[in-house]
Amino acid sequence: MKDKAAELAVVSNKSFEASTAVNLHHYDISSALQTTLEFNELIAIFCNKIQATLPHNSVEYVNDEFSLAFKRGIVGRHSCNYALKVEEQQLGELKLTRSQRFSKDELKMLESLLCCLIYPLRNATLFQQALQMAYTDPLTKTNNRTAFNDALLREISRSKRGNQSLSLIFVDVDHFKSINDEYGHDCGDLALASVASWVKDSVRGCDTVFRYGGEEFVILLADTHQTDAAIIAERVRSSIESHTLAYGMDVLNITASLGVSSLREDDSTESFVKRADAAMYTAKQEGRNRVCLG
Ligand code: GH3
Ligand code: MG
Ligand code: MG
Repeated sequence: MKDKAAELAVVSNKSFEASTAVNLHHYDISSALQTTLEFNELIAIFCNKIQATLPHNSVEYVNDEFSLAFKRGIVGRHSCNYALKVEEQQLGELKLTRSQRFSKDELKMLESLLCCLIYPLRNATLFQQALQMAYTDPLTKTNNRTAFNDALLREISRSKRGNQSLSLIFVDVDHFKSINDEYGHDCGDLALASVASWVKDSVRGCDTVFRYGGEEFVILLADTHQTDAAIIAERVRSSIESHTLAYGMDVLNITASLGVSSLREDDSTESFVKRADAAMYTAKQEGRNRVCLG
């Protein structure tokens, strides 16, 4: 009887040590995961931290909401897959692979460790959603002026560093005030959202469209010199002109005037923007519904 009690004590001691080790491991992972709000970094940290406990050869993380597809390592024959979710919030899918099968105990351990990842992923989701909201114009779903200011600084410095060309197109809807005056503000809003989507559809995937303010949009074209920027501007102009907007029983034709500038060696941010804006005003003066180069 006495021996049994001693044995039991030893067993309980062992499990205590084991659970302390597991808790310390969880604590270590949780602390590391608090250092970033970037999805890819979170997944990389998590996988590095669990590698010793749960050896794996590759990791894949997919998050459709933020168009993320992170892959690392060489894909093995056996895999385990988790759709991560908390309180109805989708947090993406994680897949680990390796050449040996994952045992039941390993999967149990992984599920327990995944609890450390869930809340950091939710924090990253909330942060990225807030960031997207701060950078997006709610009416036209294009990037807003704040996003433009940031992107412009980034692209100018990238262009100067890499000695690459950079162009800018200003788009201003013609006689927009008369749309508001004749058909009402709601129709004006619909017209702006429609113009934004026509502009987005007529540029390349690498060009970024921003709402500069009111009925003005700007398009930033990385690695593009003026000749190509002018071709794209003409495509945008022609697309706006060729669409019609149905509003109730009315059919509206919309046009826009565009100005193009390309970054010069001695340009400041202001002079680069001003040249595109001035070219757009020249297009207005010359009769609207046209492209001018600055
Ligand atoms: P121009 O051809 O010279 O550019 O003439 P315009 O009428 O387009 O230019 P103006 O600057 O006189 O008028 C712009 C109008 O755009 C005035 C403003 O009320 C309207 N506007 C700005 N933002 C919005 C918006 O978010 N929704 C609506 N419906 N109208 C807007
Ligand atoms: Mg204007
Ligand atoms: Mg206008």
